[in-house]
Amino acid sequence: MLKFHNTLSGQLEEFQPLNGNEVRLYVCGPTVWSYAHIGNFRTFTFGDILRRYLKFKGYRLTHVFNLTDVDDRIINEAAKAEKSIDEFTAPFIDAFWEDSDALGIERPEIAPRATHHIPEMIRIIETLLENGHAYESEGSIYYRISAFPEYGKLSKINFAGNISGASGRVDTDKYDKENAQDFALWKFAGADEATGWDASFGRGRPGWHIECSAMAMKYLGETFDIHAGGIDLKFPHHENEIAQSEGASGKIFAKYWLHSEHLKVEGETMSKSLGNYFTFRDLLAKGYTPTAIRYLLLSVPYHKQLNFTFETLDGAEHTLERLRDFRKRLNEAKLSCGDNQDLQKIAKKSLSDFEAAMDDNLNSSVALAALHNLVREVNTSLANDTVLTANRDFILQTIDKIDSVLGIFGEEKEEILDTEIESLIEERQEARRNRNFARSDEIRDLLSEKGIVLEDTKDGVRWKRK
Ligand code: AMP
Ligand code: ZN
Repeated sequence: MLKFHNTLSGQLEEFQPLNGNEVRLYVCGPTVWSYAHIGNFRTFTFGDILRRYLKFKGYRLTHVFNLTDVDDRIINEAAKAEKSIDEFTAPFIDAFWEDSDALGIERPEIAPRATHHIPEMIRIIETLLENGHAYESEGSIYYRISAFPEYGKLSKINFAGNISGASGRVDTDKYDKENAQDFALWKFAGADEATGWDASFGRGRPGWHIECSAMAMKYLGETFDIHAGGIDLKFPHHENEIAQSEGASGKIFAKYWLHSEHLKVEGETMSKSLGNYFTFRDLLAKGYTPTAIRYLLLSVPYHKQLNFTFETLDGAEHTLERLRDFRKRLNEAKLSCGDNQDLQKIAKKSLSDFEAAMDDNLNSSVALAALHNLVREVNTSLANDTVLTANRDFILQTIDKIDSVLGIFGEEKEEILDTEIESLIEERQEARRNRNFARSDEIRDLLSEKGIVLEDTKDGVRWKRK
């Protein structure tokens, strides 16, 4: 039985979709003003594991993952670079998908961009103005949290003492708001400002929170199953999303709220502002592989903090090498026909241990332990010659099933065997003797594609792997 820790209830809860076998999932995506760092990717890898595991459990999924392509940072950076917002964000959007694909993060069904959903945001703000949940002040529109008594229900922050109603001007710095906690739905933009959209309530640009409310409700409906993101989004972002969406629709916004803990560096959250971050690209440039980075990000359950060190990343590289080597050896082993029942049982148990771990609020570290146990047992059996042909098929299928969620093995390069290389070299020599240079070049290219370099020497042809 699949259980999630629901931030909204503060409890571990059995997962029950709102509508049969169908799951509607929203995960907050990146702000595309620079390259995502591996802290960001910890959250997105968690989103991917959630997605893949829901599919593993047989649910039909609609997964929305937005791109925040307008906010104050983007506007400022674009202005500095003398570019339009679209020109400025385009390379970061491309880079984001490239990194995300390399990390084995599956693409969502829908990846909406904020700037393509301004009319939807305007409509929600209009509704909130009409029903008294929002007000205008100096050209901007604010959410009136005193009109939403449940404000704080996600973050469990008690605002009762702070919400003084429509009259009090609490924070003298924020003189344009009725209440210090009120937040901007729409920020006034003068006619001279480059970035702005016209709305019935005046020219401006959206606040960050309204973007997600509009994109989530457009594609998933007013009420959907799961909303997920990093822990820092719980407040104010997600609290505000709830206030806006429920204030407009009068319905529950999302049933389950899942938050992933941060990636830390020496006890501090990895972040752009602290400067203690590595982008995915930084790590590739240091020679690390995408699957090892993914392995590291999964090695600790999402709801626990993960401390980044290069030692653990080196460890992940070695572990993955061992896992891949194991799979290759199993694939190539010369086995006797038959079926060792004890080993079948072990493989079945590994799969059920894996599933039990993932059912328990996506405990990826215990899930990985189930895979390692299987490898250990099969290694012992290989050494004792007790792995039989039917076992091999079953074990490889089990690993594939587990990896359909973990995605750590990566795509296997088609290895060319020494005997195949030698027979191709033989054929190439024959082609050359027959002055069939086209065929001889073709063979050289084919071998080169497979990573084999040929060297013609006076003693014959030598070859090596690149
Ligand atoms: P941003 O691009 O700033 O909108 O952030 C994208 C996502 O990354 C959000 O869900 C954040 O919660 C998440 N995030 C930011 N820093 C970290 C970190 N150090 N560890 C894990 N997730 C993070
Ligand atoms: Zn969001």
